[in-house]
Amino acid sequence: MTIRERAAKIVAVLKEEYPSSCSLVSTADWQLLFATRLSAQCTDERVNIVTKELYSRFPTLQSLAEADLEEICEIVRPCGLFRTKANDIKNSAGQLITRFGGKVPDTMEELLSLPGVGRKTANLILGDIFGKPAIVADTHCIRISNRLGLCDTKDPHKVELALKKIIEPAEQSDFCHRLVHFGRDKCMARGPRCGECPLSGLCPEGALRAKTAG
Ligand code: SF4
Repeated sequence: MTIRERAAKIVAVLKEEYPSSCSLVSTADWQLLFATRLSAQCTDERVNIVTKELYSRFPTLQSLAEADLEEICEIVRPCGLFRTKANDIKNSAGQLITRFGGKVPDTMEELLSLPGVGRKTANLILGDIFGKPAIVADTHCIRISNRLGLCDTKDPHKVELALKKIIEPAEQSDFCHRLVHFGRDKCMARGPRCGECPLSGLCPEGALRAKTAG
């Protein structure tokens, strides 16, 4: 079996196991952008609680751009790194209005020009909002892709490039969301549940662990 064929089988299994994809709640493109910014080193569950309050207090980009920074800080405090995140959100809101006509841009380059937006966030936006092929190389994606033998590097950009070559373009974005669910559910950083893993027959790391245990 080629690596592409194995990748396709892995995609199919995860699709079956985890039908839903992104767990961040949003009703506008800019809301997803800021929710993603808040999710750095924070759980999606907590982000969803915080954004509910944030977007009910500041329902438009304009209101966020004009908001008192301390008020944003207070609301986003539970997400950690709150001052930096609040600053990024307020500044990005202003820039989205002045530079992009109130719309989230649809290119990597433009997204990366916004405060606090890195490749991970930019790829999530490109995939989820614009339906473009995009790999979000977060901690789950990096760990699990290495275990599955889909790549052999911990460097996020190299993981992104490696997966882009072997995962069907239309599947890339959701595949990464599913890896997050899978990484919390079965293939955790410590003590992965290989014995009950639906990918065990496709996973070199699982085979190695079974051999060692046996
Ligand atoms: Fe992760 Fe184990 Fe499943 Fe491999 S077999 S994907 S290491 S849980």
